[in-house]
Amino acid sequence: MTGSFTTSNTGVPIEDDNQSLTAGTQGPILLHDWYLIEKLAQFNRERVPERVVHAKGSGAYGELVVTNDVSKYTKAKLFQPGAKTESLARFSTVAGEQGSPDTWRDPRGFSLKFYTEDGNYDLVGNNTPVFFIRDTIKFPDFIRSQKRLPGSGLRDHNMQWDFWTLRPESAHQVTWLMGDRGIPKSYRHMNGYGSHTYQWINEAGERFWVKYHFKTDQGIDFLTQEQADKLAGSDPDLHRADLYNAIEEGNFPSWSLKVQIMPVDEAEGYRVNPFDLTKVWSHKDYPLIDVGTYTLNRNPENFFVDIEQAAFEPSNIVPGIGFSPDKMLLGRVFSYADAHRYRIGTNYAELPPNRARAAEVNSYSKEGSMRHTFNGPEVPVYAPNSYGGPHADPSRAGDGGMWEFDGAAVRAGYIQHPEDDDFSQAGTLVREVMDPAARKRLADNIIGHASNNVTEEVLARVFQYWTNVDAELGAKVEAGVRANLASADGAAEQSSAKPQEGQSSAPGTSEERSAVEVGAQS
Ligand code: NDP
Repeated sequence: MTGSFTTSNTGVPIEDDNQSLTAGTQGPILLHDWYLIEKLAQFNRERVPERVVHAKGSGAYGELVVTNDVSKYTKAKLFQPGAKTESLARFSTVAGEQGSPDTWRDPRGFSLKFYTEDGNYDLVGNNTPVFFIRDTIKFPDFIRSQKRLPGSGLRDHNMQWDFWTLRPESAHQVTWLMGDRGIPKSYRHMNGYGSHTYQWINEAGERFWVKYHFKTDQGIDFLTQEQADKLAGSDPDLHRADLYNAIEEGNFPSWSLKVQIMPVDEAEGYRVNPFDLTKVWSHKDYPLIDVGTYTLNRNPENFFVDIEQAAFEPSNIVPGIGFSPDKMLLGRVFSYADAHRYRIGTNYAELPPNRARAAEVNSYSKEGSMRHTFNGPEVPVYAPNSYGGPHADPSRAGDGGMWEFDGAAVRAGYIQHPEDDDFSQAGTLVREVMDPAARKRLADNIIGHASNNVTEEVLARVFQYWTNVDAELGAKVEAGVRANLASADGAAEQSSAKPQEGQSSAPGTSEERSAVEVGAQS
């Protein structure tokens, strides 16, 4: 476009792009200055609604290269030995809005789209292997509790702890969140997980349950709460900049893809329910199996087109891959596509980052807002038809993953397995995975967070919640929060008394204040 003449959106050359058309030099602007109207109206419509969750994010294009042979578990073309598949990744925070800092303590989205020969496959995961809840019916409640109060529009720690402690299945994820990995150093320095249990189906029709792990080749690294709080002010977009700049410099980030495989007949006897998203499968029970390398090597040409309009949806699965009885996954299979229809329109699958790149699209979908592709006039608009239109071909299609279930409609929890409690795996993380320094940072992060505007009623549950995770941690949290509150109370009393000459009226010592303030930005 550089150096050429300016036109309207429909290609008409423009006379003047600096002065609007007025009735005389001091007169009103004329409504028939259609170019001005087009320009202002277009500007007013530049933003699409932000995502209700995962609003702030960044992404890039890359590829998955399969280096190992996992064909005995899946026939999915993208996982066959030597396969190389173009991909788009988007990483994000969850609760923060578009302009929020990259360094808030939050899980990070880890969404991948693979442009396969059998259509697009989306793996819409997080940088954590587990989640806060296990039934999709709680998702709107959970997210609202992490966002803003209806009256003041403020984030509110009381609301967060109220929800978490009333839904104790959150303990594993909250332990993870309050630990070091709750604020990654950059998007390059975190792992990604499919998190849910999916199904893999091989050429012979045998089925396996599978969990995906993308281990960062850059090494895990994190920010302390104090570093993150400072960076939120001085460099709020640093994760976006880090990813973009690394790729621009040719320093391509990569992840080693590994999977855990559980033969379907082992699910029933496993010690935890393998479909419960608040649990992991221990690596000791199901060791990681190498699959290949995932590399990001191309920045978006246009952030809005490629990343803001990117639409990831767990419903995009390809032959060789299926769903599982995980109720969070089954809810997401509906809700992502539905969110895209609202946010970027009925025909979002035609947008550049979303359309199939390596597969034919022979769909009977037609029309709707912003449609711009269509079948030839000779292709009928209905099926079945006698005029050569596309027809469903089961020999090409996957079955979406089948499993047996009983027929009665019930509202019930998951089938209980022997070690299905809400706190054990969180306790293992604290006692067996974290070292003493990480355990101390975990306790400090919780104390800082729970010392900020949490009511006594909720605090009592907070102390019990952490005691259930680990008795020593629970005692530390209670003592730390009590000390913070006492020093804040003391400081308040002091400041309400008239300051003596030479005496500061600021509440508490600077150490005491920072102990309360650390973690204020959840
Ligand atoms: P392992 O010792 O085999 O695995 C422990 C896992 O914990 C590793 O994947 C490691 O990731 C990860 N990890 C290390 N430090 C932290 C941390 N500070 N915060 C979060 N994760 C960390 O044991 P198990 O498989 O038996 O699991 C034990 C516990 O580890 C679980 O209860 C769970 O809380 C946690 N975990 C388990 C995972 C799994 O899929 N089994 C995955 C992630 C966490 P890395 O190798 O990248 O350092």
